[in-house]
Amino acid sequence: MLAALQHGIRDVRLGERPEPTPGPGEVLVRTKAVTLCASDVHMFAEGNVGGVSWDGPFVPGHEAAGVVEDANGTDLAAGTPVVLDPAVACHECDMCAEGLFHLCRNLKFCDLPPVDGAMRELIAWPADRVFRVPESVDLVEAPVIEPLCVALHAVELASRPAGAVVAVVGCGAIGLFTLRMARLRGAKRIFATDPIRERLELARELGADDTMQVGVQDPGAEILKATDGRGVDIVFEAAGPQEALDQCLEVVRPAGEVVIIGIPSADEYRIRASSLRRRELAVRFVRRQNENYPEAIELVRQGAIRLGPLLTHRFPVERAQEAFLLAERKVDGAVRVAVVFD
Ligand SMILES: [Zn+2]
Ligand SMILES: [Zn+2]
Repeated sequence: MLAALQHGIRDVRLGERPEPTPGPGEVLVRTKAVTLCASDVHMFAEGNVGGVSWDGPFVPGHEAAGVVEDANGTDLAAGTPVVLDPAVACHECDMCAEGLFHLCRNLKFCDLPPVDGAMRELIAWPADRVFRVPESVDLVEAPVIEPLCVALHAVELASRPAGAVVAVVGCGAIGLFTLRMARLRGAKRIFATDPIRERLELARELGADDTMQVGVQDPGAEILKATDGRGVDIVFEAAGPQEALDQCLEVVRPAGEVVIIGIPSADEYRIRASSLRRRELAVRFVRRQNENYPEAIELVRQGAIRLGPLLTHRFPVERAQEAFLLAERKVDGAVRVAVVFD
């Protein structure tokens, strides 16, 4: 079968992989689309993500949707439109016993070498990690449910989004969904910052009250001014670079919360301990999501969340390399870029 293969840094080419055979409890899914996550782009451009790299060519992609090809005895009938949860927990370790499946000590993750990702015609995946999506959802947009789940989880981790003044630093898919979720959860006022103007337009569409363009405006100073020097209650970091974290720390009020979702390229942050300590800040890191698919899919079904505005570009799998380059350069208003199979 056809598969996109990453051979090296900035080198994704179409190749072949053997067809998978579903094992016990697995379904076979025919892939329709895979969207590119920041972690895929880190792997593409830097050759590693969070210290994980690879040896041979591997199949990238973990945000995937498709149609069940072979139910394999499970109750997901052939023809069912589905999205995949890329993380498979062991259900045996202490974290799983606590219901913290995303922190499973033996987690298997789609596209984290040596596990092949989803950018291939067929994928066999555990049936309990495969979720039905409503017929009304465009299957090319459906993979974007994965970053929505991450946003849902991030907002869940914040202790008091209702009534809070919130800032979201970084308006990629996760940042945009985070601000949307903060809105749905009753945030009082939402600031959003990003260097890219088109993303700020989307942020306003999704519910941000005030947006500031990094590099053109001084978001830190403006947010402080707009809050009469008080700062925000909760700041979500959804960008990655050091400067983004610095901006978060600048705008959060004493006893406020910093929720870090982004992935720093160098896997390292510099912080001045006194600046956090004196304000007694709570800093929370986010590890993807935990069992958020059913809720995310329900929000999409209800129309509370629209996936379409964030799915900005579509490329046939033959042009996967171009899709990656666009996602890396973030030009042309790109937020989520899909690689599509016919
Ligand atoms: Zn992702
Ligand atoms: Zn486990």
